[in-house]
Amino acid sequence: MASTVPVEEPHKVFDTILTLDFGSQYSHLITRRLRELQIYSEMLPCTQKLADLSWKPKGIIFSGGPYSVYDKDAPHVDPAFFELGVPILGICYGLQEIAWHESKTNVIAGSEREYGHAGVKAQRCGGQVDRLFDGLEDEMTVWMSHGDRLSQLPESFRVIATTSNSPYAGIAHETKNMYGIQFHPEVTHTPRGTKLLENFSVGICKAKREWSMEDFMVQEIARIRSLVGEKDQVLGAVSGGVDSTVAAALMKEAIGDRFHAVLVDNGVMRLNECAIVKETLEGHLGINLTVANGTEQFLSGLKGVTEPEAKRKFIGGKFIDMFEAEAEKIEVGAAKDAGKVKWFLQGTLYPDVIESISFKGPSATIKTHHNVGGLPKRMTEGQGLKLIEPLRELFKDEVRDLGRKLGINHELVMRHPFPGPGIAIRILGEVTPERVEIARKADHIFISMIREAGLYDQISQAFAALDPSKAVGVMGDKRVYQYIIILRAVQTTDFMTAKAFPFPFDFLDQVSTRIVNEVDGVCRVVYDCTSKPPGTIELE
Ligand code: GLN
Repeated sequence: MASTVPVEEPHKVFDTILTLDFGSQYSHLITRRLRELQIYSEMLPCTQKLADLSWKPKGIIFSGGPYSVYDKDAPHVDPAFFELGVPILGICYGLQEIAWHESKTNVIAGSEREYGHAGVKAQRCGGQVDRLFDGLEDEMTVWMSHGDRLSQLPESFRVIATTSNSPYAGIAHETKNMYGIQFHPEVTHTPRGTKLLENFSVGICKAKREWSMEDFMVQEIARIRSLVGEKDQVLGAVSGGVDSTVAAALMKEAIGDRFHAVLVDNGVMRLNECAIVKETLEGHLGINLTVANGTEQFLSGLKGVTEPEAKRKFIGGKFIDMFEAEAEKIEVGAAKDAGKVKWFLQGTLYPDVIESISFKGPSATIKTHHNVGGLPKRMTEGQGLKLIEPLRELFKDEVRDLGRKLGINHELVMRHPFPGPGIAIRILGEVTPERVEIARKADHIFISMIREAGLYDQISQAFAALDPSKAVGVMGDKRVYQYIIILRAVQTTDFMTAKAFPFPFDFLDQVSTRIVNEVDGVCRVVYDCTSKPPGTIELE
């Protein structure tokens, strides 16, 4: 299909601000905030060499980081970036990096750490504040987290902001567009931080605010078409979740019936899940869908398996086996003139990309995540299928936005995440068909009641789990000895930390009554109040 739309990656099409990551836990938020301002931004590790960059950013931000610039092993930016001639903003470690680049004696360990809120005063010069503080109050609340400080002002720099403890809370080069701030504008604890990032990227870098989901969609569809060509076929696993559905809808839009979605029913999906996915993908979105029913195989293979990692491994492995078998059938059954299945669709999101490239500071990753589309190694490496990842530049809320643009209904777009190993990791210990049935029914009641109460969109993830140790109860004057249902609902923005949702007690009371009355085999319901950390969101 001929297209006049350029088929380049977003950083070649949109004005882009590059964030170089020195390992701060907030680095990705810089990118988030810029995109909220409709400015496209990407993050790369601080070890990126300028010579290896195939595109030119409109401006560069150096993030914070856990090291001290004067440490022997501290990471340093490729000095070529200083010569690129585009504006630079250093945040915390980034500021210290700029100062250290000027002279190795400019940064020292402070006598006290500054951690938490501080009031920053923009310096006036000839009655004017610096462009970086344009439109901001003369004194604003910011968030700080540092132990090192500048010992002196680097040569050719001037002070543009101070706090009561930091004489160099903000600095700017006299002639070049180079800025440093000791505080973090990217966190919500700095209420006006986004305005400061706007001043930098729009006011100083002159980046156009042109990042819109509409343009991205048109752009990405053209890119998929040119990548896949006129004949090749693409396979993708779908789960009923937001990411795989949006990715599938985008593929359908780009290449129509040459995209084949496969849903593997692993027997541990939610109540009526398969029917709902079929209805949405086939009925509503017109996507070519094959459902492979693996209930028997999965449930018999899970017999006697109690250890959470063993369950995950088994389900992951079996999933690939079934998916591969389906893939072969699709190729054999395809129309005569159809090309080969050469591509595998994967719903990778930007946080996964960031996680895999981010500069690792001393804090290690706590948990690896399971993604239903994320198991293709054997297929990509073993069978030479090429990966296609149309969502790899997007954050979750951007995926939702794209989903809306593709006509996917609100309910699906706002759906809570659901783990690949499904209910199997919400049944503590051994998974049996009876337990799956009970957990499913309880979950369905809990989620329906959350929806009816209008609370669904305020909660990030909710589910009912089953504790197979039994408790004594009394029903109809008879002693019973039955399972315990654990309700869990959390609120979180990034899934790295989370808090239990504060339901009104009456609501929990009603859920508990309905579950005990309507689900055979349950005589107790409890609510899990644990935060993450120390808990995780799922129970296994
Ligand atoms: N590690 C540096 C310091 O303590 C930078 C901290 C940061 O970037 N938040 O000052």
